[in-house]
Amino acid sequence: MLRLYSSHLNFMKKEYQPEVLEPAVQKFWQAHQCFKATEDPNKEKFYCLSMFPYPSGHLHVGHVRNYVLGDVIARYQRMLGKNVLHPIGWDAFGLPAENAALKHGVAPAEWTYANIDHMRTPLKQLGLGFDWSREITTCKPDYYRWEQWLFVQLLKKGLVYKKNSAVNWDPVDHTVLANEQVIDGRGWRSGALIERREIPQWFFKITAYADELVDDLDALTEWPEEVKTMQRHWIGRSSGLTIQFKIDKNCALNDNAAESSVVQSIDVFTTRPDTLFGVTFLAISPQHTLARYAAEHNIQIQKFIASYQQVSVAEAATATLEKQGIDSGLTARHPITHEPLAIWIANFVKSDYGCGAIMGVPAHDARDFDFAKKYQLAVRTVIQALEKEPTDDTQGPLGGQLINSGVFTGLSSAQAAMAITELLIKNGLACKKIHYRLRDWGVSRQRYWGSPIPIINCDHCGAVPVPEKDLPVILPEAIHFTGTHSPLKTMPEFYQTTCPQCHQPATRETDTLDTFVESSWYYARFACPTQAKAMLDNRAHYWLPVDHYIGGIEHAILHLLYARFFHKVLRDLDLIDSKHNEPFTRLLTQGMVLKDGTKMSKSKGNTVDPKQLMNIYGSDTLRLFVLFAAPPEQSLEWSNSGVEGAHRFLKRLWTFAYMNVWLREFNQNATSNLENPFDDTHIPTKQQAFRREIYKILQLAKHDYERQQFNTVIASSMKLLNLLSTAEHSNMNSTSATPNLAIQYIIQLGFSMLLRLLAPIVPHITHVLWQELAFTGLILDAHWPTLAADALTIEEITWVVQVNGKLRAHLSLATTADEEAIKTAALNNAIIKRYTENQAIKKMIIVPKKLINIVL
Ligand SMILES: [Zn+2]
Repeated sequence: MLRLYSSHLNFMKKEYQPEVLEPAVQKFWQAHQCFKATEDPNKEKFYCLSMFPYPSGHLHVGHVRNYVLGDVIARYQRMLGKNVLHPIGWDAFGLPAENAALKHGVAPAEWTYANIDHMRTPLKQLGLGFDWSREITTCKPDYYRWEQWLFVQLLKKGLVYKKNSAVNWDPVDHTVLANEQVIDGRGWRSGALIERREIPQWFFKITAYADELVDDLDALTEWPEEVKTMQRHWIGRSSGLTIQFKIDKNCALNDNAAESSVVQSIDVFTTRPDTLFGVTFLAISPQHTLARYAAEHNIQIQKFIASYQQVSVAEAATATLEKQGIDSGLTARHPITHEPLAIWIANFVKSDYGCGAIMGVPAHDARDFDFAKKYQLAVRTVIQALEKEPTDDTQGPLGGQLINSGVFTGLSSAQAAMAITELLIKNGLACKKIHYRLRDWGVSRQRYWGSPIPIINCDHCGAVPVPEKDLPVILPEAIHFTGTHSPLKTMPEFYQTTCPQCHQPATRETDTLDTFVESSWYYARFACPTQAKAMLDNRAHYWLPVDHYIGGIEHAILHLLYARFFHKVLRDLDLIDSKHNEPFTRLLTQGMVLKDGTKMSKSKGNTVDPKQLMNIYGSDTLRLFVLFAAPPEQSLEWSNSGVEGAHRFLKRLWTFAYMNVWLREFNQNATSNLENPFDDTHIPTKQQAFRREIYKILQLAKHDYERQQFNTVIASSMKLLNLLSTAEHSNMNSTSATPNLAIQYIIQLGFSMLLRLLAPIVPHITHVLWQELAFTGLILDAHWPTLAADALTIEEITWVVQVNGKLRAHLSLATTADEEAIKTAALNNAIIKRYTENQAIKKMIIVPKKLINIVL
């Protein structure tokens, strides 16, 4: 058992001095490696992880909240007896380092490492119980080499491929821009109108796991429903129908002389076949073959398509893109009514979803309605809503009845969907199809500060993976960043190489990986961060999956989806235990932006410097404040009075301990300790109510810890301190500084529980008080207090209260209440008081367990 001091340093001064005790406690933790996690198969593990930070150089309140939440959960689980892993690292690649390089003329690597050093100090000052021996920095070769290795494995499995894909091209700077570098359609530096350009890029085949990624959400019972809904929507699995609409003339396409094809019909994907009679037009993507055909002899259409090419990828990604279209001049036939339908070319139809063509049903689709209104197209209602009409096509047909739909009129939406599907399939005009909104994950970035893609491009052999023995491909760090280009493109010492297959001169890929790749598997690497011979080893079997993952709601979709995808890939490569299909068992999403301090616009927290607050009030105060101000899932409103209130509470806690310093001797002499709690029967009947209250608070606090409502845990702790103060004053011998023995037991019991309730939240002050008052061992090793079996089960007796033999009131009292307590309760009853007021009480007759008669 570790002891803090061989002899007392005597922190027990009258004043609470966090600036003295907090560094001393942290030094102790560090010296004794209190948070170093070791695999122990005999102990139940608990892996707690807060999303690791981007090293922006500045620790903001969002970080504080994220890491304090994780720390409280980790420390609480440790008190429950689990073997806890709670690591930290740095999501170190990314665009801001390049921007800083341009602005300040410092290399991205240098900037990043300096920021990491700068942020490590306040994280330690916060008293977070991290296992620093497992610190990961993703921009270091010992980390990204395994990412490159994985890339090669995925390539072998066919889960990585290369295809042309659109990027934002800046024609002045001759460079590719990230979406956030395109502002109002123009390059952020050049101001040039951004073009859409297709270039070859690498993709992860996440769609191969689309079904599993949807289906496994059901098993994630400890994830917020909101997050699961967002993931489902993003993957967007919908079963529907591909319907064939015959075109009124054969459209012969002459793409090149050798190859000509004739298009006779157009395929349209829909999830709402019940709305088929409401179709008033068809719309195709500007990249659809028919659009190209229509453009051949029509200069207006050519212009429309050209203007679409100018819409940047960034703009196209936004839902606010203004809907625009042009009539192609072509018509198709409705598959049942044979009515002619105009085919429009529209910018909102995506070429890579469905068939690149949609059926326009303005009466039952908001987007189609906007379009129809703008171009004065017909709107035909075919479903009469019985209840609320769904506006989202993924919800499928719901409660409505068909009208204006020929023989299908009168059917319900669901019946009609089936009947129309059946008819179309029978006539060979449709087939069932499952579609996904999810696209494969493009991972190529035309940027410098990222992990190099381990590929060598050879004129003879094509794209050849770097042999595993040659990994990692090291990103040169000592570079001069002059413009918008990746410096890798101008460094022959980087890109010149020989082909591993034919040994002829070849060039390295100069694109780097999307930084989402690093954050997709770091949680697994924490199990064995220094393993140099493999990506993961057996320790991953022990620690994974993460039991509790904590992070901002803004990562609800992409980061979590990519990490889930990686987990399944790692499982299929036998790198982790095949029993576990998901990386994060329980998820806590908190309502504040974490990774990027500049995005904290919703909160006033961005103007507050946590470091400054820690210097003024101490980190326990800051921790208490961020947890008390709001439940984790809500946004945190900063308030100075809240910080001061938190500080006042800790001062009260300190003062209470100071005033009851007799506890030290009491604990030292006690035959009881935490392993052998004292016999609660020491507590006389009169004080049993206090004992019951203490256990009630404990029970509530445990419940709130489990559901992570730490603000109410703190409220309970405040209540407990008040209760103990009341107990202290209730029976204090006025001439002595020490309460009587019964109260001593109450205070010992209650204060040991109070310190343990608070230990995960304010670990420094509780550590010191635990030691100073000589409770057994370290509070870090203390177990969560157990609820005495009988503590809350009290039976009550209903007494009849008479005054001069007449029934006046009923009174419920604990069976344990003694005669004196019964009498007092009867006399203090408000109704009885009315009858006894100003009268002398001659006697009181008590019939055990039944009746009290007050004789006047
Ligand atoms: Zn070659």
